[in-house]
Amino acid sequence: MGIWQSTSVNRRISVLAEQVTHSPEETVLFGRKLAEYLRPPCLVLLEGDLGAGKTTLAKGIVAGLGVASEDEVTSPSFTLVHEYGSASKVFHADLYRIEGARDLATLGLEDLWSQPATLLVEWGEKIGDDAPHPCVRIRMQYLGGDDRQITVEQQWADR
Ligand code: ADP
Ligand code: MG
Repeated sequence: MGIWQSTSVNRRISVLAEQVTHSPEETVLFGRKLAEYLRPPCLVLLEGDLGAGKTTLAKGIVAGLGVASEDEVTSPSFTLVHEYGSASKVFHADLYRIEGARDLATLGLEDLWSQPATLLVEWGEKIGDDAPHPCVRIRMQYLGGDDRQITVEQQWADR
């Protein structure tokens, strides 16, 4: 399913980083470093199973962007979208409970782009491949115990 109207023909992808972390703290630190490379408008798709560490990584990213402390960042799985920052906005969404394109459209993610923002989306795989914004795709994989593999890709649409 995809809500984004797209005319993209080609998609360029490059792997920015790949790392195994061994604790939640390491994942938060990784998120803080990653935040240095994010410039709005930026869509960050966080992918991976329940417990893979998407919210934990989001804590680091939001803190690294300087709009909230780690502790202020909680899972938006019930509220669906959290908003941080004032001048420069960061939105943190969770699509776990979203089923189908109509549900997704109701959430109104498109409307969040009235000004350049950073949009972090857990269960980003539900958005589809046609995002119109510069896009970072982060795959998180449970390796057992406290080990998590984090793969960060940058995507551009040539159009
Ligand atoms: P998700 O949002 O993907 O469902 P969460 O970030 O909410 O995942 O939960 C990840 C859980 O795994 C937390 O309880 C966290 O403490 C634990 N954990 C253990 N090791 C790691 C690690 N290396 N990175 C991230 N989380 C970890
Ligand atoms: Mg989560």
